[in-house]
Amino acid sequence: MMTNAKNIGLDVKAPEKTCDDENCPFHGSLKVRGRQFVGTVVSDKTHKTVVVEWERRKPIQKYERYEKRRSRVQAHNPPCIDASHGDKVLIAECRPLSKTKHFVVIQVLGLDEAKLIKEFESDDLPKTKKKKEAEDAPSEDKKSKEGDEE
Ligand SMILES: [Zn+2]
Repeated sequence: MMTNAKNIGLDVKAPEKTCDDENCPFHGSLKVRGRQFVGTVVSDKTHKTVVVEWERRKPIQKYERYEKRRSRVQAHNPPCIDASHGDKVLIAECRPLSKTKHFVVIQVLGLDEAKLIKEFESDDLPKTKKKKEAEDAPSEDKKSKEGDEE
């Protein structure tokens, strides 16, 4: 389907609808740059704005495990995309649009796309094994040394 959407420089599907929003990356003059995130829309109550939340894992060195942390940002929701509550969306960083808004929704992800991204994200394995071995080694040395002395 042909639309008059601009190429925003990212590998995303352009929306099928069109809009006249100046702050739309596809039909207005907004440029996207910086970081991208995949999240879930947890609120669409505000006009042309959604709250997007996603989970990230923060490593805790002491326990060699991860804790779950949630990030929440406000993102601009152009009329041509019109993401609603519960949607999986791809957001990209842009210039500050208001005091709290510096992200814009660039795609509503279908089920297949969301699944693909989830698989990709769970690929990172904990990298704590090496450290554990390093910690175990010196304590063993100490023990054998003590044995020799006696
Ligand atoms: Zn648009």
